[in-house]
Amino acid sequence: MTDLPVLGARQMNRLRIIEALYRRPLSSRADLTRHAHLSRATVSTLVEELVRAGLVEEHAGVAASEPSPEGALGRPPVRLSLVSRSAFAVGLDFGHQHIRVALCDLSGEPIVDDYSPADVDHAPAESLDLAHELVREALRRAGVAPDQLLGVGMGLAVPINKTTGALEADGILPGWHGIRPAAEMEARLGIPVALDNDANLGALGEEAYGAARGVDNLVYIRLSAGIGAGLILEGHPYPGVAGVAGEVGHVLSDPSGPICRCGNRGCLEAVASPVAVAALLERSLGEPVSVQRLLELVEDGHRGARRAVADAGEAVGRAAAMLVNILNPELVVVGGDLASAGEVLLDPITAAIERHSVAPAASSARVVPGALGPRAEVLGAAALILAKSPRALVARLEA
Ligand SMILES: [Zn+2]
Repeated sequence: MTDLPVLGARQMNRLRIIEALYRRPLSSRADLTRHAHLSRATVSTLVEELVRAGLVEEHAGVAASEPSPEGALGRPPVRLSLVSRSAFAVGLDFGHQHIRVALCDLSGEPIVDDYSPADVDHAPAESLDLAHELVREALRRAGVAPDQLLGVGMGLAVPINKTTGALEADGILPGWHGIRPAAEMEARLGIPVALDNDANLGALGEEAYGAARGVDNLVYIRLSAGIGAGLILEGHPYPGVAGVAGEVGHVLSDPSGPICRCGNRGCLEAVASPVAVAALLERSLGEPVSVQRLLELVEDGHRGARRAVADAGEAVGRAAAMLVNILNPELVVVGGDLASAGEVLLDPITAAIERHSVAPAASSARVVPGALGPRAEVLGAAALILAKSPRALVARLEA
């Protein structure tokens, strides 16, 4: 993203109001005096100005986003929110075999949500071209001009070095070696592109719009083709020094397990990823088993399928127990393909955390399924951009 200018005192106050409304839509003027730490008079003047500028709108007769002392006095106060169509962001999620795009308004609501199968792992240039097409088509369908976009957030299933922007792709996404995806996308779109790891974005999506709304300390575990975790600590994403934090898929799970694609033996991913679990059933059923088929078998109550998923849950739970001991999160959110197996997966994860974490850490960590399903990553990618929207909106106003 381009750097935004340094703000003067008046702009700083506008920023406080806009940030407060971004985090707490449907606040009243009194809520704003508390959350933006400004006087009532200043809030009144600035809100009036922002309404005139078309950035803030009033809602009469709408329920409060939080209990308000004024509520008890009778007439409900007027609620305020940012005008959701005053800015937009695009999220792009590159899975191993698909690209998903979401064009979101300022509130994070996807106006267009599109999906295309793609051989992302082996055909990076074609995948980037396809993503370009999907973004252009989404803008066309929504009638949004490129200059109304704040930026594009992009997720890839690979660790990304935060300092250099390079992919740590060896053994994980070999076809992408040496490619700088954010620069490639920017060259195609002419719009700033921010890149992050898909599990980190899943965490961000669930925190902004899903199961972890309002939670400051959480671990998001993504069980898809690979296994990864996104960490949000004290309200901030934690990438680690080289962007590799949360690579829980490659911790040792079974010393005598199969060789993993990273070159080690018995990694969690080699034992418990949906693909690894489906492969176990291929042996017993004597036929190819896709992840989709695995989930159908679980749904139908197939004993072997349920056992395989439960064992995977226990393995994931043992790894999660370490994270719970080390990080003491409030929430463990389970996302990715395998999460739709429901309690067959989640119960063993919860039990393993209870068994293998110290009691105070285990009792404060709730295990929940993700609320956004396969859209967690793409919405997180949009949230990466939208989180910076308050400053961008203030910069649009004249000083
Ligand atoms: Zn591994």
